[in-house]
Amino acid sequence: MDGTCGAKNRGGLPCRRSPAVGKRRCRLHGGAPRSGAPLGEANGNYRHGRYGRAAKELRRKLLAEGIERLRQAEARARAPRALVPNLATTDALARITNEGTKT
Ligand SMILES: [Zn+2]
Repeated sequence: MDGTCGAKNRGGLPCRRSPAVGKRRCRLHGGAPRSGAPLGEANGNYRHGRYGRAAKELRRKLLAEGIERLRQAEARARAPRALVPNLATTDALARITNEGTKT
Protein backbone atom coordinates (compact mmCIF):
# COMPACT_ATOMS: atom_id res chain seq x y z
CA MET A 1 0.00 0.00 0.00
CA ASP A 2 1.08 3.60 -0.41
CA GLY A 3 0.27 6.87 1.31
CA THR A 4 0.56 7.24 5.04
CA CYS A 5 -0.01 4.94 8.01
CA GLY A 6 -2.85 7.08 9.37
CA ALA A 7 -3.05 5.37 12.78
CA LYS A 8 -4.02 7.73 15.62
CA ASN A 9 -0.88 8.59 17.57
CA ARG A 10 -0.58 9.69 21.21
CA GLY A 11 -1.06 13.30 20.17
CA GLY A 12 -4.43 12.34 18.64
CA LEU A 13 -3.16 13.06 15.14
CA PRO A 14 -2.83 10.57 12.26
CA CYS A 15 0.59 8.93 12.01
CA ARG A 16 2.48 10.28 8.99
CA ARG A 17 4.96 7.42 8.59
CA SER A 18 4.74 5.38 5.38
CA PRO A 19 3.18 1.92 5.74
CA ALA A 20 5.36 -1.20 5.96
CA VAL A 21 5.86 -3.04 2.65
CA GLY A 22 2.63 -4.83 1.72
CA LYS A 23 0.84 -3.45 4.81
CA ARG A 24 -1.51 -0.58 5.49
CA ARG A 25 0.09 0.49 8.79
CA CYS A 26 3.66 1.47 9.63
CA ARG A 27 6.08 -0.74 11.54
CA LEU A 28 5.09 0.90 14.84
CA HIS A 29 1.32 0.64 14.36
CA GLY A 30 0.69 -2.97 13.51
CA GLY A 31 2.59 -3.32 10.24
CA ALA A 32 5.63 -5.06 11.69
CA PRO A 33 6.84 -8.24 9.97
CA ARG A 34 5.05 -11.45 11.06
CA SER A 35 2.28 -9.42 12.72
CA GLY A 36 -1.39 -9.89 11.82
CA ALA A 37 -3.41 -12.86 10.62
CA PRO A 38 -2.08 -15.25 7.95
CA LEU A 39 -3.11 -14.59 4.35
CA GLY A 40 -4.89 -16.94 1.98
CA GLU A 41 -5.71 -20.53 2.84
CA ALA A 42 -3.71 -20.31 6.06
CA ASN A 43 -6.37 -17.93 7.40
CA GLY A 44 -9.28 -19.67 9.13
CA ASN A 45 -11.83 -17.50 7.37
CA TYR A 46 -10.56 -18.36 3.88
CA ARG A 47 -13.26 -19.68 1.49
CA HIS A 48 -12.33 -19.60 -2.21
CA GLY A 49 -10.11 -16.58 -2.83
CA ARG A 50 -12.59 -14.94 -5.21
CA TYR A 51 -12.19 -11.62 -3.41
CA GLY A 52 -8.55 -12.09 -2.40
CA ARG A 53 -5.63 -9.91 -3.44
CA ALA A 54 -4.58 -12.16 -6.34
CA ALA A 55 -8.11 -12.35 -7.79
CA LYS A 56 -8.66 -8.61 -7.44
CA GLU A 57 -5.30 -7.92 -9.09
CA LEU A 58 -6.18 -10.28 -11.97
CA ARG A 59 -9.56 -8.61 -12.48
CA ARG A 60 -7.89 -5.18 -12.47
CA LYS A 61 -5.38 -6.37 -15.10
CA LEU A 62 -8.02 -7.93 -17.38
CA LEU A 63 -10.18 -4.81 -17.18
CA ALA A 64 -7.24 -2.55 -18.07
CA GLU A 65 -6.35 -4.85 -20.98
CA GLY A 66 -9.93 -4.74 -22.29
CA ILE A 67 -10.04 -0.95 -22.05
CA GLU A 68 -6.71 -0.70 -23.91
CA ARG A 69 -7.98 -3.00 -26.72
CA LEU A 70 -11.15 -0.92 -27.08
CA ARG A 71 -9.06 2.26 -27.23
CA GLN A 72 -6.88 0.78 -29.98
CA ALA A 73 -9.89 -0.44 -31.96
CA GLU A 74 -11.46 3.03 -31.76
CA ALA A 75 -8.19 4.64 -32.88
CA ARG A 76 -8.03 2.27 -35.88
CA ALA A 77 -11.63 3.07 -36.80
CA ARG A 78 -10.85 6.81 -36.72
CA ALA A 79 -7.68 6.58 -38.86
CA PRO A 80 -8.31 8.21 -42.26
CA ARG A 81 -8.25 5.65 -45.08
CA ALA A 82 -6.56 8.18 -47.40
CA LEU A 83 -3.32 7.85 -45.44
CA VAL A 84 -3.10 4.14 -46.31
CA PRO A 85 -1.58 3.84 -49.82
CA ASN A 86 -3.77 1.89 -52.19
CA LEU A 87 -1.40 0.00 -54.48
CA ALA A 88 -3.99 -0.71 -57.20
CA THR A 89 -4.83 3.01 -57.54
CA THR A 90 -1.19 4.11 -57.57
CA ASP A 91 -0.45 1.58 -60.32
CA ALA A 92 -3.39 2.73 -62.42
CA LEU A 93 -2.38 6.38 -61.99
CA ALA A 94 1.16 5.58 -63.08
CA ARG A 95 -0.15 3.86 -66.24
CA ILE A 96 -2.42 6.81 -67.12
CA THR A 97 0.28 9.43 -66.60
CA ASN A 98 2.81 7.41 -68.62
CA GLU A 99 0.42 6.96 -71.56
CA GLY A 100 1.44 10.19 -73.33
CA THR A 101 5.14 9.61 -72.87
CA LYS A 102 5.05 6.25 -74.66
CA THR A 103 6.38 6.14 -78.19
ZN1 LIG B 1 2.06 4.57 12.06
